[in-house]
Amino acid sequence: MDNDPELFDPSKLETASHEAPVWVHVGRLFDGHSNSLISPAHLVYDAVKIRYVGGDDASPPANLLRPGQTEPDAKLPEITVLPMLIEAHAHLFLDGTPVDFEVRRKYLTLSPEELLAQARNRWPEILATGVGTVRDAGDKDGVGLRLAAESAETRGQISTTGTIDSPGAAIHHQGRYASFMARPVEEFTSPAACVADRVARGANRIKLIATGIINFKAGQVTAPPQMSVDEVRAFVEAAREHGLQSFAHASGTDGIENVIEGGVTTVEHGFFVSRQQLSKLRDRQMGWVPTFAPVQVQIDRASELGWDQSITSKLRRIIEEHSESLRLASEMGVTIIAGSDAGSCGVPHGLGFLRELELMQQAGMPPVEVLKSATGTSAALLDFSEPIGRLAPGCRTRLIFTRHDPTVDVTTLAREKTILFDGQAIAGSRLTPQTVPTVDTAGQG
Ligand SMILES: [Zn+2]
Repeated sequence: MDNDPELFDPSKLETASHEAPVWVHVGRLFDGHSNSLISPAHLVYDAVKIRYVGGDDASPPANLLRPGQTEPDAKLPEITVLPMLIEAHAHLFLDGTPVDFEVRRKYLTLSPEELLAQARNRWPEILATGVGTVRDAGDKDGVGLRLAAESAETRGQISTTGTIDSPGAAIHHQGRYASFMARPVEEFTSPAACVADRVARGANRIKLIATGIINFKAGQVTAPPQMSVDEVRAFVEAAREHGLQSFAHASGTDGIENVIEGGVTTVEHGFFVSRQQLSKLRDRQMGWVPTFAPVQVQIDRASELGWDQSITSKLRRIIEEHSESLRLASEMGVTIIAGSDAGSCGVPHGLGFLRELELMQQAGMPPVEVLKSATGTSAALLDFSEPIGRLAPGCRTRLIFTRHDPTVDVTTLAREKTILFDGQAIAGSRLTPQTVPTVDTAGQG
């Protein structure tokens, strides 16, 4: 055991078993739901779960430590520790990196088995960015369902993929938007029969495609909503009968109204949400997942995507209005949940989520609120199958150790950090002794 920070080795954060907990003393601890940090903080964990979190006013009880242990395994005064992040809107079967239309079209011709293999290969990178949980937002090839089933097999045990859940194929209307990730309700005689089919296939939630998407050339949602209030409500109630939440893709004021009145758990995207609708979201304790990243990328890479000046200025206006809505929602106390729509054109898994957090902060949401939307707030609303997204006794040992303070600036999450996932330090970029100055190479500089 060695407490000299100059000789600190990240392997000291690791633990192999339930019998050998690790006790660290860190400079700051963000628990995922409190606005103020614990500083300094004691943290005790084993391979699977956190045993103790507390400030300097007390020491961890002896029965939670190794026999005879009186000092922390590591003292890390310059380190902030926080929970691994929850990505609440991603399409694991898609590769978000390419923006080239032809490359994306070809990718979608891969077989379900090939798509699954690609999705599996991406996991180590996703974990290394600090994302430990994904709520998949739909695919019709069963990739999300397979990954979710594998994730469920290691529930409460050491896992290789983290916590994943999936709605299977999203539900849309025949001939309307989203055939690449949804199956039509028209295949069934009723919304209830459609929901029963998804449940039988292993869905953890029900995903509705209630509207079209933004017409980038027009700068607005031009198609009428896909689903009425009554129809949304029928799906939501059927899902509830199976004990499942519903979430809905909705952009455009009319379509957003339908999904709010229909009673979904979260509204996805929500471009063109009105102030009155934000009030309803708050009053009914529904969540909003604003997904800035897929629209921002249309501006950032406009020339590659073929957008001219007039279209980009429309896109900028949409982002400005969306930012204003996010600021307002945050002030009003709407439950905001972070999700990047990773897998969409130009939004890679993992890094796209860090970009989303940056965009939320840029929009004017306080950084600590952005972090909560990616950890404790998300965990509290979304009913995941494991205790994740918080640092508290009993929660999973899925931690980010960083020399920076993401509660002051979330973009520092893109800089060097150590991920401790189920007891194993997995990130390539590791903490270095605090006395040795380091050069950041990965982040925004
Ligand atoms: Zn999506």
